[in-house]
Amino acid sequence: MTSERDVIVVGAGPAGATTAVYLAQQGYDVLLLDRHQFPRDKTCGDAVPAGAIDTLNHLGMGDKIQQAVQRGELYPLESMRLVSPKGYELEAMFHKGPGGNDSYVAPRQYFDVLIQQHAIDSGAKFRQAQATAPLLENGRVVGVKVKENGRIQELHSKVVVGADGVTSVITRTLRPKENQHTDGHRAVALRAYIEGLKEFPHQVEFYLYNQILPGYAWIFPTAQNRANIGLGMRLDHFRAKKQSLEEMLDTFLAMPAIKKRLQPGWKLHDMATWQLNFGSQQHLQHVYDSAILVGDAAGLINPLTGGGIHNAIISAKLAARTVHEALQRNDTSRSSMQIYEQRIHEAIWGSMKRSYQFQRSLMRFPMLIDFLVKRMKENSGLAKMFLTKL
Ligand SMILES: Cc1cc2nc3c(=O)[nH]c(=O)nc-3n(C[C@H](O)[C@H](O)[C@H](O)COP(=O)(O)OP(=O)(O)OC[C@H]3O[C@@H](n4cnc5c(N)ncnc54)[C@H](O)[C@@H]3O)c2cc1C
Repeated sequence: MTSERDVIVVGAGPAGATTAVYLAQQGYDVLLLDRHQFPRDKTCGDAVPAGAIDTLNHLGMGDKIQQAVQRGELYPLESMRLVSPKGYELEAMFHKGPGGNDSYVAPRQYFDVLIQQHAIDSGAKFRQAQATAPLLENGRVVGVKVKENGRIQELHSKVVVGADGVTSVITRTLRPKENQHTDGHRAVALRAYIEGLKEFPHQVEFYLYNQILPGYAWIFPTAQNRANIGLGMRLDHFRAKKQSLEEMLDTFLAMPAIKKRLQPGWKLHDMATWQLNFGSQQHLQHVYDSAILVGDAAGLINPLTGGGIHNAIISAKLAARTVHEALQRNDTSRSSMQIYEQRIHEAIWGSMKRSYQFQRSLMRFPMLIDFLVKRMKENSGLAKMFLTKL
């Protein structure tokens, strides 16, 4: 048996690494685990809104972020373009966050390692190990079972933070089956990088068209003539569709508006699919005796835009505050930490609810998008939703 840590964070994506930064900066003994060594890729559109950057700067990451921008790893955004099924276009400018920061397209192989490294610089220990299950004693989580270099080990802690993403082993074990995400609150998406596409500099593009509604296709530039490209669909619609996401991407690339921008020798690489769990399903449990869920492990992705990085970082901040209070009280029971569920609700439920209502309306009345995009200005609700909840 190893000695007991204050906190083990399982998963070093934005949710887990940010939680580790907060807690390590307060002096806690934090072990951050991930099954991958960093840097590593994560299938994503890579769009990071200014609000998320604001929070990371508050944690002292300003220099790291600016250096990554200088190296050309993070690509600043100025505007977005929303294209409706009939081809109407709405352009809107991004506003800087309250801290004066830009939004970025930040490929996750570059972005995530910045936070993971900051967690280490803040005092957290990092280990490459795969969690196979939470360790339970009389219903209370007392640590995690991990596979490290082929060996199974038991690691003990006062609190476990489940930050292991949408396929979380912590969530699957702790959250009752009947209380897990249903297909109407989930999506699948495909992402690739494209070289040789005439991009609109510093502008992200969203294409909402009938075949994939209420999902969309995107083009998010990462540099000149290079972009992250992909599309996503609600899981229940995808299952009914009986067409692969790769075929849908072919259809998207063959659209005249896209095809004419492809340059000779263009190519796709690093194509991958992944799942999204939306935060629109109410009454999901995020707190257990001595364990707490953050980010995609909790299921906090915006149901309209598919954006989850900002919510992952918001949940990290709220979870770290809750864990800190519980450790101070020496009581990490569910009842002691349950306030986290209320804090999450207050912080993000309003926007989740509005986004979900929008998502359902767009699905039922696709013509509404043509109407909104044709008639509305850049301060319309739809534009704002995409600008702030990427
Ligand atoms: C195709 C696609 C496009 C998207 N586009 C955007 C976008 O443009 N903007 C946006 O804001 N959001 C986007 N999202 C959502 C976004 O990717 C997630 O919300 C975000 O990554 C959540 O961060 P996280 O830290 O909770 O989880 P993750 O980023 O998934 O991190 C989880 C970490 O846990 C590790 N892990 C998993 N299991 C274990 C285990 N058993 N043991 C140890 N470690 C483990 C993983 O290796 C990973 O490092 C997109 C999602 C998809 C699928």
